[in-house]
Amino acid sequence: SETRELEVALGERRYPIRIGRGLLGDAAALAALVPGRHALVVTDAHVAPHYLPLVEAALGGKQAGTLVLPPGEQEKTLARFGEVMAALAALGASRDATVLALGGGVVGDLAGFAAACWMRGVRFVQLPTTLLAMVDSSVGGKTAVDLPEGKNLVGAFHQPAAVVADTATLATLPPRELRAGLAEVVKYGALGDAGFFAWLEAHADALLARDDATLAEAIARCCAHKAGIVARDETERGERMLLNFGHTFGHAIETQQGYGGLLHGEAVAVGMVLAARLSARLGRAPAADAERLAALLTRLGLPTTIPAGLDPAALLARMRLDKKAVSGTLRLILWRGLGQAEVVDTLPEADLLPVLSA
Ligand code: NAD
Ligand code: ZN
Repeated sequence: SETRELEVALGERRYPIRIGRGLLGDAAALAALVPGRHALVVTDAHVAPHYLPLVEAALGGKQAGTLVLPPGEQEKTLARFGEVMAALAALGASRDATVLALGGGVVGDLAGFAAACWMRGVRFVQLPTTLLAMVDSSVGGKTAVDLPEGKNLVGAFHQPAAVVADTATLATLPPRELRAGLAEVVKYGALGDAGFFAWLEAHADALLARDDATLAEAIARCCAHKAGIVARDETERGERMLLNFGHTFGHAIETQQGYGGLLHGEAVAVGMVLAARLSARLGRAPAADAERLAALLTRLGLPTTIPAGLDPAALLARMRLDKKAVSGTLRLILWRGLGQAEVVDTLPEADLLPVLSA
């Protein structure tokens, strides 16, 4: 099957996104992504047994180390970041070292932040193995770790040198993780591409059945969308904020649950529906569009309501701490309907409580 190649263009800098089945089996192509002597592969204990041997084989000629972390959002911490630093030190990694992230968004965000910090920045390669990482987190250079107080509060912009998405790795992804990734796929349609949203409605069953061609098409369309936005607004001063559609709500839920409840993608699914219904309630978006969004997410097996037992006032307090908040009022990504998100800077908090209580 074909390999698709896209590009993220950031002025003079550019890097490739390769999408295809079996790409991790191309040892020569992987080795070419590590021009220096030292390489550190950061992965997690779910991914390592399946795919680490492929990457280690490709790096046979290098001074390469491996760090296998425990899986999960609860591990995206400063403590684990410290372990990556220690692994780089143990390797004697020089400034021409390459950090490779083999795994989902947790590994990618953490390893990327480590690459941004080691000797003030070394080369970084993304080898995403979740749908979510392939369509979103591996592209665009946002890296971070969480604090107990909030998601992604410590981080840096650090672009990868390449993104290599081997769609064969999706075969071992647990069904719940596949669905969580589909939430971020739906996000692209909801916030900027009504045609893609309709395509997703038509292909929902094929996506859930993991049809390789349909998944590859969806991944490529999402990456093209994200690459365009990142090229126009690398550091999130404007348009890139739209990619946070559903995320202020979602992050509040994740944080309030101590990162052990809903998965990130699931929380984003709930957050998008809340943002859409709030927009409809405020007369900014058609209520029918909000319900169409909720219906697609439901078909994809995703939650659309706040988990029981989360206190609305506590969620609101979490939303105030979100990075997108500005003092006094909340900055939220609201909605004008399918394919049209918008940044709203001055939303009175009182408008929010009804949707948080629903
Ligand atoms: P994740 O990294 O926790 O991976 C999900 C689970 O799947 C883990 O248990 C992992 O071990 C397992 N796994 C990964 N690949 C597998 C495979 N091929 N086969 C079997 N199991 C596999 O979570 P995620 O959903 O990939 O990423 C979520 C994170 O991404 C969040 O921390 C979120 O904040 C971040 N994120 C970042 C950006 C960004 O721009 N940097 C964008 C979106 C999300
Ligand atoms: Zn996200």
